[in-house]
Amino acid sequence: TSAVSSSADGEDRAVEAALRPKDLGEFIGQERVREQLSLVLQAARHRAATPDHVLLSGPPGLGKTTLSMIIAAEMNAPIRITSGPAIQHAGDLAAILSSLTEGEVLFLDEIHRMSRPAEEMLYMAMEDFRVDVIVGKGPGATAIPLELPPFTLVGATTRAGLLPPPLRDRFGFTGHMEFYAPVELERVIHRSARLLDVRIDTAGAAEIAGRSRGTPRIANRLLRRVRDFAQVRHDGEVTREIAAAALGVYEVDERGLDRLDRAVLQALLKLFGGGPVGLSTLAVAVGEESETVEEVAEPFLVREGLLARTPRGRIATAAAWQHLGLTPPPAPPH
Ligand code: ATP
Repeated sequence: TSAVSSSADGEDRAVEAALRPKDLGEFIGQERVREQLSLVLQAARHRAATPDHVLLSGPPGLGKTTLSMIIAAEMNAPIRITSGPAIQHAGDLAAILSSLTEGEVLFLDEIHRMSRPAEEMLYMAMEDFRVDVIVGKGPGATAIPLELPPFTLVGATTRAGLLPPPLRDRFGFTGHMEFYAPVELERVIHRSARLLDVRIDTAGAAEIAGRSRGTPRIANRLLRRVRDFAQVRHDGEVTREIAAAALGVYEVDERGLDRLDRAVLQALLKLFGGGPVGLSTLAVAVGEESETVEEVAEPFLVREGLLARTPRGRIATAAAWQHLGLTPPPAPPH
């Protein structure tokens, strides 16, 4: 992945944490999810109860982790953060669940990637606040039931449809996160610029917002790269020209496509004549995991009308040929 779509590390990770909104009021956009969640939390506070389990679905970087932290903060509860791929064995999950305190929020990122036995243990934990811990092996193995304190599971997934129905049904509420509108991203950028002490004008923020693929995490990352450029090559102030020049250096085009997006489109057009081609073939051609192509690049390309998913595979649209400045092959004769 590229400098802008990979996950943050080092300084960037610290900055990202500092930029997280702390409560629902500070959280920009996602009006519907915010209203729904606010009702769930207020009602739970009213009843002095632990809120229902919450599932957050949507593409990466839209604020699912941030929202889970806000849920904990609004409930005045501690939070434990883990992810599906980190839970290999049911025992890993049992260890986490049995150490939760009353009312604690358990954030399970990429919940669709949990192992099957762990998933089944989670069903019971979510429903009855109980797990069966298996002690011993073979015919002598016994299940020891273990009571858990009430907790709130916040699961995050890129697509709710990836979850097996029995798991999906155990969430009291599903928040569908949408890509952000450019004006919302401008607000995110102005807010982050203020926190980072970066001077930026309206046009500069709009330029970054337009290239951020509807995603606050990307908006924040692009802002940091533009800030570097403005500080090193100019006087630090971010204008439209400076933002455009900086993002040119980082290979983020006017439409927000980065290297991975362009690599996917280029492979689709140049190697497969515009498709249809299967996801895994396309992923191999760009040297990425199918999941990365499907969850990071494709949602944006589909939304931009550059790529379509069909039952026969991925196909490029006329706009894709145009965007890359290529000529589509002549239509086959009927
Ligand atoms: P993933 O799905 O990969 O876990 P995520 O959806 O959990 O990603 P976050 O890590 O919560 O994304 O958000 C990324 C960054 O974007 C955070 O640093 C946060 O500052 C910023 N951010 C996300 N949503 C908002 C928002 N609504 N308002 C302001 N900033 C936001």
